[in-house]
Amino acid sequence: MESDAVRKRVFRTIEKYGLVKNGDKICIALSGGKDSACALFLLAKYVEEKNIECEIMALHLNLGLGESERVEDICKEQAARVGVKLESVSVRELGIDLREIAREKKRAICSVCGVVKRYLLNRLAREKGCDKLATGHNMDDFLVFFFKNLLSKNYFWISKFRPKVEGAHEKVVCRIRPLFFVGNAETELFCRENAIPYLQSPCPYSRTDVVKVRRRKWYEMLYSCERFQRNFRYNLARSVVEMSGFFERGEAKEFRECRICGEPTNREICAFCRIRLS
Ligand code: AMP
Ligand code: ZN
Repeated sequence: MESDAVRKRVFRTIEKYGLVKNGDKICIALSGGKDSACALFLLAKYVEEKNIECEIMALHLNLGLGESERVEDICKEQAARVGVKLESVSVRELGIDLREIAREKKRAICSVCGVVKRYLLNRLAREKGCDKLATGHNMDDFLVFFFKNLLSKNYFWISKFRPKVEGAHEKVVCRIRPLFFVGNAETELFCRENAIPYLQSPCPYSRTDVVKVRRRKWYEMLYSCERFQRNFRYNLARSVVEMSGFFERGEAKEFRECRICGEPTNREICAFCRIRLS
């Protein structure tokens, strides 16, 4: 697949699933990696080419780990290349020390980091007046989630496997995933062919984290199927999207507001506040 084919596929996804509309204010979560960079470039290109009146801002969470300053610099370069304003928020300045929480709670740092990122990205995007939050999750990520949810019978989550998911609560920002139909190989190629700077491995912890190591094994499985079955991943992703509608009436838990911070959660206290309580 060539980089222009990646562009066409992403543009088609944006159009078919109505990811971008006139008057939107979109926040793109920028990690410094190839996927969110590719999503940012193609969203910005789409808005420019189609002359859409839509504001795009990039949001980066400086996680305060190892190479965080270098990661932030790369994000600045990526945003500058497309003329998008970048907001960097330091989690340390918000009083969050990921390593310390992981140690205290005896949890893997990647799991603590995931909770903090999910919470802050939604909250900050909303507080900045954005109606949509775009992430760089790609097709391979979704296919791996799909298999995992299938195996653990978490069918309800399959209903969220779509390029656009409306917020289930007024405080949950609508998610858009422009890369729903392009995988790791394609986003890497896109960044290389367009000389977009990105970090090879945005996080030093993901190299050894059990969940992330396993995820890479799943990717290998997907790519080995692709070798004997042409378009295996793309056709599977298209089937999953169609299938996702059947799972909508699963056991969706009611959203309420966290007793401590007021953010949406399905428990009395949200996951973010729970990891911060000693
Ligand atoms: P990950 O969970 O690390 O695979 O990242 C999934 C998506 O979350 C990325 O494609 C980004 O859109 C977003 N993301 C990850 N890390 C950050 C970060 N430090 N700051 C902002 N967005 C992030
Ligand atoms: Zn809370």
